[in-house]
Amino acid sequence: MFKKILIANRGEIALRIVRACREMGIESVVVHSTADEAAMAVRMADESVCIGPPSSRQSYLNMASILSAATLTGADAIHPGIGFLSENEEFARMVEEHGFTFIGPTPEHIAKMGDKAVAKDTVRALGLPLIPGSPGILKDAEEGLKLAREIGFPVLIKAVAGGGGKGMKVARSEDEFKACFTMASSEAKAAFGNGAMYMEKYLSHPRHIEIQVIGDGQGNAVHLGERDCSIQRRHQKVIEECPSPALTDEERKYIGELAADCTRKMNYRGVGTMEFLYEDGKFYFLEMNTRLQVEHPITEMITGIDLVREQIMIAAGHKLSFTQEDIKFDGHAFECRINAEHPETFIPSPGKITRYHAPGGLGVRVDSAIYDGYSVPPHYDSLVAKLIIHAKTREEALKRVERALGECVIDGINTNIRLHERILQEPAFRAGEFNIHWLEKLLASQAEESKKAAS
Ligand code: ADP
Repeated sequence: MFKKILIANRGEIALRIVRACREMGIESVVVHSTADEAAMAVRMADESVCIGPPSSRQSYLNMASILSAATLTGADAIHPGIGFLSENEEFARMVEEHGFTFIGPTPEHIAKMGDKAVAKDTVRALGLPLIPGSPGILKDAEEGLKLAREIGFPVLIKAVAGGGGKGMKVARSEDEFKACFTMASSEAKAAFGNGAMYMEKYLSHPRHIEIQVIGDGQGNAVHLGERDCSIQRRHQKVIEECPSPALTDEERKYIGELAADCTRKMNYRGVGTMEFLYEDGKFYFLEMNTRLQVEHPITEMITGIDLVREQIMIAAGHKLSFTQEDIKFDGHAFECRINAEHPETFIPSPGKITRYHAPGGLGVRVDSAIYDGYSVPPHYDSLVAKLIIHAKTREEALKRVERALGECVIDGINTNIRLHERILQEPAFRAGEFNIHWLEKLLASQAEESKKAAS
């Protein structure tokens, strides 16, 4: 087993990994930017190294600095966390070339799944269902338009290098296709340095269902059930839950086994997530994330499996310690992403937290790195806490989410707690009847109402 792990990340996820290391008797090193000197993960880790100024490019994305820190501290493995370099093939390769273990998949798997066109070809060959769309990259808008006519409007134009919903545009008719294509492509070029586009049929009322998979790269792979991440705003997940209220047991078994089978056939090593859209009883593969997900704790709550621990064990060369039959799903879990942002305007709200009280009690877990007096830096994403709830049934879990949200105090900055409370009050949400467009529609209608009330 490793003696010392370097964590190349920040915020709650860095702390999450420090915690796993501590429980496993492994020393931890956290790297940080100058903006994160007072971060909780830095305080909790055994060692820390400042690797650069606030700008991510010069710190959390600076491979040379991170590798130097690993050498300096004598770490034997590097955990990339989520975001930043976690799905960077070059980084994974460099880590290994410098004699450290990369806690994650092989560079080859990262590369394969990171290129959406290659990913689709790969999983299609392994039997996963895809959304009707272009077979690969579109040469130009002309070719796109021809294909869009065949698929039928509306279509979604997507960036091959996309992420977080950037470089994505819905074209509803022939007339707007070319303008949409050009816009999406230049947005992708600006954001990812790659303007290559592909296209899919735009689904009007799908749910986002993703399957947690785990493989040991030694022929074994299982799935740990699904997560329903349909509550989204601007393609960003807001609330996740498992199991999904929309799936039947047969559907659950079907898609879980399919994803596990695919993972095994790829001889995938590490944890991963296969994302699907689900509409009218059909699943369509979206992408595979070759890393831990923000919402991984809800899976941990219903399976009792510590996913970060498993990541570390697998990276250290251990085989999976459980089979599919060993995995038992217990109860229902929700995660609310608490962001430092205004609950109505969504304007980011960095700054000093003057008072913090975390909710507690049975079935309540808070993954967060904030504390009384902590200043949320303006340089990074706005996630400050994840409220994770577990209960025997969905009904009980809903009541517990409400109860816990009511206990949570974060003063000094704006948070989206009120947004969560509003969603919780909606009969459609309580009934589990929603799709990926539901929250946006709700917000639009509420904005309309308050405009009317004001005039
Ligand atoms: P990214 O890599 O930018 O996150 P994804 O392909 O994972 O892009 O899609 C992100 C989100 O966009 C999905 O969760 C879903 O909400 C929406 N989406 C993606 N593809 C489609 C589609 N074909 N039809 C409707 N919505 C889609």
